Parts: sequence; C-alpha cells; structure tokens
Amino acid sequence: MNSAEADSSRPNLVFVFPDQMRKHAIGFEGEDPVVTPNLDSFAKESVILTHATSTSPVCSPYRAMLFTGKYPHGNGVLVNVNSLSSPRGNFLKDGERCFSDVLKDEGYSQGYIGKLHLHAPDPNPPYDYGQGPLAGGVVWDAWTPPGPGRHGFDFWYSYGTANNHLAPHYWTGDGDAKSSRVDIDEWSVKHETDVAIRYIENEDGSYRDEAKPFSLFVSHNPPHSPYDKVPPEYLEYYDDRTNEELLNRSNVRFEGRGKEAREHAKNYFAAVTGIDEQFARILETLERRGLKDNTIVVFTSDHGEMMGSHGLMEKSVWYGESLRVPFIVRWPACLKPRKDDLLIGSADIYPTLLGLMGFAESIPAACEGSNYAETIATGSGPRPESAFYLCMPSRPEPPIDAVDRRGVFTHAYTFAVEYGPQARPLLYLFDDREDPYQLRNIASDRPEVVRRMKAEFHAWLRRTNDPWLASKRDLFDSEVE
Ligand code: CA
Repeated sequence: MNSAEADSSRPNLVFVFPDQMRKHAIGFEGEDPVVTPNLDSFAKESVILTHATSTSPVCSPYRAMLFTGKYPHGNGVLVNVNSLSSPRGNFLKDGERCFSDVLKDEGYSQGYIGKLHLHAPDPNPPYDYGQGPLAGGVVWDAWTPPGPGRHGFDFWYSYGTANNHLAPHYWTGDGDAKSSRVDIDEWSVKHETDVAIRYIENEDGSYRDEAKPFSLFVSHNPPHSPYDKVPPEYLEYYDDRTNEELLNRSNVRFEGRGKEAREHAKNYFAAVTGIDEQFARILETLERRGLKDNTIVVFTSDHGEMMGSHGLMEKSVWYGESLRVPFIVRWPACLKPRKDDLLIGSADIYPTLLGLMGFAESIPAACEGSNYAETIATGSGPRPESAFYLCMPSRPEPPIDAVDRRGVFTHAYTFAVEYGPQARPLLYLFDDREDPYQLRNIASDRPEVVRRMKAEFHAWLRRTNDPWLASKRDLFDSEVE
C-alpha cells in the first residue's frame, strides 16, 4: 500500500448541518450579503456541489432520507414527526438499516449531537419537556431511549425538536428521560460545538474508542426560527444595514408572511455568521489534532429559507430559496477542490458518503438513492438528468389550506405541480437560467418543455413508488403512460 492509499483508508467523517440554511447564505456564493469568512475559506479547499437540493424541504422527511437512503414513500416519514403524525407510522423505524448502522458494522465510533426530529414523541411524557413547540397540544419533542433507535451512535447528545436556541436541552448517556437530561444556558450552536470539540479531542478518553475511526453528526437548529434567539454579538456584523438592504433578491415581497422578513433578515444572517464562527472551531480542532487530511468534512443543511422571497417565509415550496442547500465536501487526502453541478438529492447522501469512504459494497440493496462518489471524486461518473421534489400536507384529511406538491428540476428548468383546494392542479415552470429569481411562470407558454419535464417527473414518481402515479393520472398524457 502506498502512502496515499494509507492516508485515505477508513476516513473519519464530520457532518455538520444547521437547519434551514439556504445555499445563498454563504458569502462565496455572491448572493446574500452575509459574513461567512470561515465557510468561504473552507470552500476553497473543498468540492462544492452547486446544485444540491433538499428532496423534501422539511425537517423530518429530509432527516429520514439522510439516514435511510430511501425516499419518503420508502421510509414512511412523509411529513414532520409529532404526536399527530407518528400514530400513522410517520417516524424513523428501529428496523431501518441506517447509514450509521452500516458504519457501526464497519468498526466506527459514532457521535450524534443536536436536533434529530425523527422519533415518535411520547404522547404522555414522564414530565413536561417544556421547550417543544406545543401548538394545539401537539407534542413535538422526543427522547430517544438507548437501544436500536439510536442506530449505532454510541455517543448520544441529542433531542427531538425544540426551538429555544438560547436555552437548549439534550439527552445524553444511557439513563432515563429524566436522569439523562441536561439543560444549558447558552446559544445551542456554541454549546454543540463545544461538545463536538470534546468528542473530536476525545477528552478524558471518554467520548470515543481512540483505536477506531469516527463519524460525527453535528445538527444545529439555527438559523431555523425563532430567528430572534441569536447572540447579539453576531448582529453587530449587520449594524450598518437595514433588513431591506440585506434582502437583495429581486423576488422579495414584503406582503403576507413575507412581512416577517422585514424583522428577521438581520437575525437570520447573524445566526449564519455565528454558525460560520463556530464551524471554524471544529475545523481548527481537526487540524490541531492532525486529523484534517483524512477526515471528510461535509457542510450542508436540511433545506433552505424563503426569508421574504415570493412573499413567503421558511420552506416547503419548490422555489430555489427553499430547496437549494449548501453541500461542501472537504477531504484533503482524496478530493481536489473544485465546483460540480451534480444534481444530488437527499436520499443520495447515504450511498454517496459510504461510497467515498470505501464502503460501496456495504450499501444495502434497500437503499433507494444513488452513489455519486465517483462523480464527486473524479468529476466523471454517473449523473442524473434531474432531481425530484415532494412536499406533502401534514394531515391526511387536508384542511382547506393544505397543498400536496411535487416537482422535478434540471439544470435549466424547475417544474412543479400543486394540488390545493382548487379543482385542478396548478402547474409551474421556471426557466432557471433566464429567470433565476423564478418570477415568470411559463408553464402555459412552453408546452414542449412541460411535456419533457412531465416525462422526467413521471419517471421519478415511478422510481419512488409515489401514490400520485395512480391518483393523479390526469396529469400525464399518453406519451409517458
Ligand atoms: Ca428543518
């Protein structure tokens, strides 16, 4: 074995994914006027996937795809996990062979830090967890007991979902829901970074087995709402700008929920700047410990943030601000820095990372995503023509405002279909090269493009076993049937 091979054998993995951080909110992208010097430097050493998308831009469906490598209709996590959806089976099953189950069998030490949002909440928890969003009596937060639900992570420092970023809580170790809980009086991103550093440094030898390679997931909740729960020192970076000046996208509309962007643009970008500063501490630790060369570091997010674009906030829709995520991969031993426009989706991450790490043969047959490791490593290799999008209503019996959405993207076009309260579906087509802010729906002007995109779309519905294949047959003409 030559030294290059020795260097790239059994790499460590550090996967950092803040929640709701759009691709545009990193300085080097030249889009949002955001301060991220450390991510900008990191990207210069990395493969930047410029066209990574969140296949279902909501918390739980993304996370389930990340860990199962299956699309929502394959893993059963169709919508966010809470006490309304989990009785329908909408949660991560213990029996799934997760990414981390494979790495455990490959001899890895593994840590999970931060938000998980995949396990069914206890509808009658042993005490009031107190910090979950509890609208209408719905329970969101969940403790994941030790055992198969932790899917091979031997270091656990996590919670379900709770949004008090300045007073977070976690469950850690093997105790019960009461004895294993810790409450922290500090910004969650800072605290989770401290824990991640202790894990990497293996403080007191108590965090991981030093003889094994490690895999560490760091799941920050910010810059997810509530946007104003951000340390004031990061707001200072934006003191000389108004919220309106910071929102430089020509599709921003301060109407409807978009009005909220007027209050929160600074808060959102301040949280991103804080994440950038904390991420640098993880990178510095890897370097100081001599782990930089053979550690794959991924920086990405579960989905984006509309922040006033098209008069919308948050995510769920097919517009680029919601759907496009950072995906930056650094591995000095094996990857030369470059940009790649690979259309990678959420279910592809599991097989692609295993492929990069040298475990392609351990990718389970049940994994539905594609392994693009060769493409990322060499620039040549398989490439999909399109990427899929789906976002389902959170209740099976739609309230009046519920919408059921699907779509497909190429490098040139975004095509989306929406079933709402209206009788007929709404079709959307955007020319993303001519109209990057997606201001003109050209579905009725370009029937030939719609026909081609429908053919791609139909292939995705079939590949992902989507019930739309049977229930929305009116969408497709005979050419693709
Ligand atoms: Ca999320």
